Amino acid sequence: MGPPGAGKGTQAERLVKKFGMKHLSSGDIFRAEKASDSELGRKLASYMDAGQLVPDEVVVEMMAKAVTQAGDNIMLDGFPRTVAQAESLDEQLAEAGSPLDAVVVMTANDDIIIKRITGRRTCPACNRGYHVTFMPPKTEGYCEDCDDVELTQRSDDCEETVRQRLEAYRAQTEAVIGYYRDRNLLKIIDVDGNLDAEIVSGEVIQALASFEA
Ligand code: AMP
Repeated sequence: MGPPGAGKGTQAERLVKKFGMKHLSSGDIFRAEKASDSELGRKLASYMDAGQLVPDEVVVEMMAKAVTQAGDNIMLDGFPRTVAQAESLDEQLAEAGSPLDAVVVMTANDDIIIKRITGRRTCPACNRGYHVTFMPPKTEGYCEDCDDVELTQRSDDCEETVRQRLEAYRAQTEAVIGYYRDRNLLKIIDVDGNLDAEIVSGEVIQALASFEA
């Protein structure tokens, strides 16, 4: 859990490699549907491009399917984002007999978030991520691993939309963290997402490993 740009995707990638988990990113799932230009994809785009949350009934249906398909040992990233989504996920996981084990909560300052997100670029061919300042490719604007492939920017990564997304986070998603903190059996791992990704993953890996032991 954490605001956009806190480093959820980066950390999820690192953790799934370390622990052999499956990475389920609601944003990635929605972007794939959006790219297919289906009717559902166009509906998703109308919310995503405005920096607003997709309505719960759509999210719950799509993510319930994805969770069922993935089975066990999942790293959820970007879902749930509302208390209603969290309740519905709890019900589904209780029925499956595999409730959540831990929640990683990441914080980050707004100025860092804006810098990180607006500079973010991706290779559309291999999905490798870059940052114009913090992790630039050898040749500006082009992927290092793919011949002649120009990097792209997510349509919702401009400053105006990022501010909308931050607002949606504060209005609708922050309450989910409280919802999880109120549950005694759930391990909550708090990390400072302003720090270097390497330091953050070290902390999370240590906390999760002690939990596994
Ligand atoms: P993300 O890649 O996690 O930053 O998500 C990109 C966009 O997808 C968000 O700004 C929302 O419009 C939408 N989205 C992703 N996950 C959810 C969710 N759990 N609930 C509602 N909207 C979501």
